[in-house]
Amino acid sequence: MPVKMDAEFLRTTFSNIHQALYSWIFRDLYDQGLQVDLELLQLASMYETDSDITDETRATSSTQYANQITLHIDYQVSSFGYVDPKGYTIITSVSDETIMNTIKEYYTNHFINGVAIWLDQIYDSGFRAFTLNLSCRTLLSTELIKKDVERQLYDIAYHIKRNYFADIVFYFHLTMSSSIFEGGGGGTRSDSGITGTKIPEDGFNSGGYNPLNPESGRPCRNEEKGKANPLVVMDLMPPNRNNIGGARFGYTRVNKYGEKKFHQGIDLMAEPNTPVYALFSGTIVGPYVTEQPNKIERNYPSGYTGDRNGAGNRFGVRSTINGKTITVYYWHLSADQPVAMRNGKPLKVGDYVYGGTVIGYTGVTGNANSEFPHLHLGIMDETGKWINPELYLNATVNDKTGEISTPCDSYQIY
Ligand SMILES: [Zn+2]
Repeated sequence: MPVKMDAEFLRTTFSNIHQALYSWIFRDLYDQGLQVDLELLQLASMYETDSDITDETRATSSTQYANQITLHIDYQVSSFGYVDPKGYTIITSVSDETIMNTIKEYYTNHFINGVAIWLDQIYDSGFRAFTLNLSCRTLLSTELIKKDVERQLYDIAYHIKRNYFADIVFYFHLTMSSSIFEGGGGGTRSDSGITGTKIPEDGFNSGGYNPLNPESGRPCRNEEKGKANPLVVMDLMPPNRNNIGGARFGYTRVNKYGEKKFHQGIDLMAEPNTPVYALFSGTIVGPYVTEQPNKIERNYPSGYTGDRNGAGNRFGVRSTINGKTITVYYWHLSADQPVAMRNGKPLKVGDYVYGGTVIGYTGVTGNANSEFPHLHLGIMDETGKWINPELYLNATVNDKTGEISTPCDSYQIY
């Protein structure tokens, strides 16, 4: 009998999951020798935020994306006592310096959705308030930054409570702006001082300012060899656990009659909404499909009459690499936000994008299995033939495990 998915059902389900998580956290911390009281775990509801993006931001940044983040934090801190093993009550205090250092340490090496965030400067702006200037080398959505900063401050408050026995409440204020030069001329600012560069013909010559810094290459790129990666962290996505080879290109699969089946590209594991980086610079081409919803139990939601191609939400980028024209296709993109934004609007057919910049987000649309979310990467040559994307991937694939190693493994985030 099918379950009725009404609001009450969802509420109960979520509340059950919530409780299960709580008891799991309790147990986990207890196993690590930590006594935890409920109060500690309710810290999340105690800390309040003022996280509105300012009007100033709206005025200075026409996009919803930012790579310059100013985080102004005010905080209130109250210490409390604990009883030491000899039975004395100890009242502790935590200095402002300790709090600032904790935050500084936190942002020395931090990632939001696989993108490194680093601390440029920290200003002490007075009593229990300071300002952080953060940067990242790619355009992250301001929503993503906002959400993550909230989570980070919760982590920091938790850390301070655990180590210094002090309650801390953060009030924060984010200002975000983009100083990325988008190239192609017109309207955008450059922090490298270059304006209005010509659109390059070679897919690798990004011209102007490449926010990803071609030398360090995020994700890992090798201009000389004409190779790059579409995700920061990659592994092949096997269609099932016994068939790692099926994630690779060619006649690597069998159908239900046991006949060999052609796989037009490679599948790379990626949690939904992972940023997809353009393999190479080029022009966005169709098929351009962005309306496909997620399926429910392998079916499209009732009433959906749009494109039903198994490739799901998708588009391609046409580039010239070492004199050859190729089109790189990105399939099964997100149902929420398949295409990255530029100046507040999704990238569209005809737009020029730079290699190594975020062009979309992964998902499970089309015939992708939500148990094994992945990015399908396909490359077509100028005659319309699918070719092996591994030829253009700056990585080697382990035939046995499907694990991918790239020359930039030091960038791996876990
Ligand atoms: Zn595939």
